Amino acid sequence: MNVYDSEKMLDIMKNLGYQTAETPEEADMVLLNTCHIREKAAEKVFSDLGRLKSLKQTREAEGKDFILAVTGCVVQAEDNEILRRAPYVDIALGPQAYHKLPEMVAKIIRKKELNAKDKNNNKKNIGVINTDFPTDSKFDFLPAPMDKKSNAFLAIQEGCDKFCAYCVVPYTRGIEYSRPVEDVLKEARLLVEKGAIEINLLGQNVNAYHGEDDSGKERSLGYLIRKIAEIDEIKRIRYTTSYPSEMDEEIIEAHRDIEKIMPYLHLPIQAGSDNVLKAMNRRYSVKQYMELVEKLRKARPDIGFASDFIVGFPGESDEDFKETLKVVNDVDYIQAYSFKYSPRPGTPAASLKNQVDEKIKIERLDILQELLNQKQLQFNQSFVGKKVPVLLDSKGSQGQLIGRTPYMQNVHVKAEDKYLDKITDVEIVKASPNALSGKI
Ligand code: SF4
Repeated sequence: MNVYDSEKMLDIMKNLGYQTAETPEEADMVLLNTCHIREKAAEKVFSDLGRLKSLKQTREAEGKDFILAVTGCVVQAEDNEILRRAPYVDIALGPQAYHKLPEMVAKIIRKKELNAKDKNNNKKNIGVINTDFPTDSKFDFLPAPMDKKSNAFLAIQEGCDKFCAYCVVPYTRGIEYSRPVEDVLKEARLLVEKGAIEINLLGQNVNAYHGEDDSGKERSLGYLIRKIAEIDEIKRIRYTTSYPSEMDEEIIEAHRDIEKIMPYLHLPIQAGSDNVLKAMNRRYSVKQYMELVEKLRKARPDIGFASDFIVGFPGESDEDFKETLKVVNDVDYIQAYSFKYSPRPGTPAASLKNQVDEKIKIERLDILQELLNQKQLQFNQSFVGKKVPVLLDSKGSQGQLIGRTPYMQNVHVKAEDKYLDKITDVEIVKASPNALSGKI
């Protein structure tokens, strides 16, 4: 979602005549888009800002303009702290307010001009901040996509009402909001005009999508995907991230009927023990999750599952952890993201007393990651010698082309540029846990 937001902010700034610079040193404006999911997110942002402060001072001493903007969830979580601790920041915008960038940039330029004229003006604290959760959707104000891309992101839903005990998203992104069906389709068509053949639908709870159609009826993700699949030029559809208990029959049937939905689903379970799921405030049981996996496998037998895991959540016992390993074996995940629990300030889990010892968390994470890597390697190795359709959409540093298989595996291929932005059958010659190599 942050990559999508950053792209949108670039589109906004390009509309104002800005272009991207290769390095901060070459830029007239630096925009730091922040993520609060990271551990010690705020400290990392303040340390990045410290570095940018020196750059800003140097540029201003040379008599040049320099605008420093910070956006994203850290701004939302820290609110006025940003301008208090880093008064040299010009613009601070929460993730629901970044469509206001043009207005903010105009305001700051004007303030700087007034400052320059008024010798007595206090040059500090001229920064502007906006962390509103506006009633209007920011999506109504975003410009059309500017850059050519064969593999594009499209945000269809944002925010979350689930309040998992460890997560900051409901506090930083606000409550769930789904974009209307026609708005999504319009953006999909614009992305196609810019060369998109693969669309990645995004949302913090993407499968909770419930946007209205033109008649005012609420529609599900399954319906939306059927409409998107009607666009001929779109060959691949993905969506992320899904909440297990939001997977309804319509989306399962869409997996059965629509070939364009890739046979890969990121369906985070987080932990394999009902005790831990309950403590996390995840609203499903392991049994329900496993039944869902079975249903999806029945609908789409070639589907592969990916997940997120948090180990060492407060109160997690050895038994609970073993149950997580059992789920990994039962589902046979083809990919996963795993982390040890670390408290996020302001979340309910941060104040729980039964925190797990750091050493135990590290041990459990090692065991889990070894198992997950082994599964991922086995899965990747099963492709060696086979031909796989790959959307080659970027160039590597050694001149090779890089793309993704239907299962989101990275593939590196020595190939001419004419294959760029096309889906091409690639013969896989080598596999590691994280990537495949192939030839055409
Ligand atoms: S469902 Fe996802 S985004 Fe929402 S609170 Fe839970 S972890 Fe955070």
